[in-house]
Amino acid sequence: MEMKSVIKRFNRYFPGTPRVFMAPGRVNLIGEHTDYNEGFVLPMALEYRAEVAVSPRADRRVRVRSQNLDESITFSLNENERKRNHWSDYTAGVARMLELSGFRLPGADLLIESMVPVGAGLSSSAALEVASALALLSTVGGELSLTDLALLAQRAENEFVGMNCGIMDQFISVHGERDHALFLDCRSLEYQQVPLRSDQVSVIICNTRVKHKLGVSEYNTRRKECEEGVDLLKSYYPDITALRDLSPEEFAQSEGMLPEVIGRRCRHVVTEDQRVLESVRALREDDLARFGDLMNRSHESLRDDYEVSCRELDIMVDLARKIPGCLGARMTGGGFGGCTVNLVEAASVDAFQSAIRSAYREETGLTAEIYLSAPARGAHEVIPGLKL
Ligand code: ADP
Ligand code: MG
Repeated sequence: MEMKSVIKRFNRYFPGTPRVFMAPGRVNLIGEHTDYNEGFVLPMALEYRAEVAVSPRADRRVRVRSQNLDESITFSLNENERKRNHWSDYTAGVARMLELSGFRLPGADLLIESMVPVGAGLSSSAALEVASALALLSTVGGELSLTDLALLAQRAENEFVGMNCGIMDQFISVHGERDHALFLDCRSLEYQQVPLRSDQVSVIICNTRVKHKLGVSEYNTRRKECEEGVDLLKSYYPDITALRDLSPEEFAQSEGMLPEVIGRRCRHVVTEDQRVLESVRALREDDLARFGDLMNRSHESLRDDYEVSCRELDIMVDLARKIPGCLGARMTGGGFGGCTVNLVEAASVDAFQSAIRSAYREETGLTAEIYLSAPARGAHEVIPGLKL
């Protein structure tokens, strides 16, 4: 987005010369349903991002406008307002968490503009939280480390919005680096940047355009099944506190004592953690074919063992794998709809897009939406005239 035009639009609604902060959406390349099992994930930040223009006020009021939704709302920092089940909860939530962390905010005018598709599983919510948090923080001249910023945004989503998400979305939104995926240990929050060179290979995200209602209840069921698995496995391995603590070999030895369904759920998580570790190795060795193969196996595990895929995701993945130049394809995100993520040789990117579009339409009657992005930089202030 053109910086000058953001400021111009800001001034249609609010006075002053705003500062502008951005935060990206993300896609998870591999490591699905491992975050709440204290395991490993490998997301990358996208060029799709939320921008928030901000100017301070002195009356402890926050006026916030979403350009995307063409809607404004005002809330006061003095009244302990509760969530309204409204998009502004994300901004009000980070405002509350900043105040609880000791930052006394003066009030602010905020204009939100986001290119992150909403509700597609690319984390428009984390982008909005993180960009809002940076914008509000600027009104007190406050500073937080990037990791603390991510934790604060996650806390806003957990405690204010009431969505029990893990740390991955906010973490990659702050720590993303151009041309790198981020390998994150969801237990320790230790992380490494892993090179993903976009001149060789492209990440193509395909939205199935379906979202089955099952998603929320099944997500909660999976979490419970994993906990149950850990409890049962403790009789074999007393020291474990999460599935993350077991290697695939250790798990294989004890799998027989678990009820069949719980066993499959746990097997997905244990093997998926292993696939993330192997993916990091493959990327470091520039072995993209191997990485693609691990993505394929991740999908199979999510489909057969964890059972969070759906017909449309499976069709999209099967079609993608038949297209020349596709090194790997899998569902990404919670499942039951949403997007697939595909690793495609750079030379085949255009042909891949038209092939998947027409094949998916033919199979399902649905029109896929396609997003292309190199791994992008995490949240920062957008400075006029400065290309970063
Ligand atoms: P995802 O994070 O996968 O896109 P979520 O349901 O977690 O999906 O978050 C989407 C919600 O975030 C929207 O329903 C809306 O409340 C809020 N949101 C995201 N982007 C914007 C925006 N540009 N303007 C207003 N609200 C937004
Ligand atoms: Mg979200």
